[in-house]
Amino acid sequence: HLSQRLKLVADFVPQGARLADIGSDHAYLPAYLLLNQRIEFAIAGEVVKGPFENAQQEVLKHHLTGSLEARLADGLAAIEETDQIDVITICGMGGSLISQILDAHPEKLVGVKRLILQPNVGESELRTWLVQHHFEIMTERMLTEDNQFYEIIVAEPTILPVAYNHRELTFGPELIMHQGPVFQAKWQGEIDRLSQVIVHMQEAKQPPLRKIKEFQAQLQLIQEVLTDDN
Ligand code: SAM
Repeated sequence: HLSQRLKLVADFVPQGARLADIGSDHAYLPAYLLLNQRIEFAIAGEVVKGPFENAQQEVLKHHLTGSLEARLADGLAAIEETDQIDVITICGMGGSLISQILDAHPEKLVGVKRLILQPNVGESELRTWLVQHHFEIMTERMLTEDNQFYEIIVAEPTILPVAYNHRELTFGPELIMHQGPVFQAKWQGEIDRLSQVIVHMQEAKQPPLRKIKEFQAQLQLIQEVLTDDN
């Protein structure tokens, strides 16, 4: 019973990987990958006791002891050198929290060949962190499930830092290039939302002019991106 969202994340985990899934909750993602012989070994990191126990249950249920280890730890502290982790997944959290988790233990990222991240919000902040820490965005995907939009960012270490502009950081360098129907729907929704907010503000007794200007600029940026045929 893996969600479409986590299935899409799973698609980007290379065959034979040694995976750390941080904030794993039920450990559905690593369990699925192991049961399908897609990876060699995984740890499921959790900082909260309840979800950690969920992960432990999943290990027992599928007889994955030895290949899937649930660990109670804060972020990347779950990773030990002897694990030889080469892929990290962090899914279902805000981009800001994902950046904080990555930022807290740079030594744990040595030897990691790929990050697969699925921020619920704050994608632009996460992309900024990746660029600043010499990661390149290889692929991005977007999907809707249960009336929610999700973005998946696949990043790999790079020697030469990549410079993304403001648009690429906001909309995603890969997503903006291949604007699909889901991309259009998400940002059209954002246009509708911003337009409503602006109308409300303009109707106020003392319209907050600076805020209105700021929102109008955001709105215009989105409209430009959506009408660009690139
Ligand atoms: N990754 C799963 C998914 O995408 O369906 C579960 C997502 S769940 C919404 C987020 C999980 O991240 C929670 O179980 C929470 O306890 C865990 N979490 C939050 N901060 C964490 C941290 N610093 N280290 C490890 N886990 C964390």
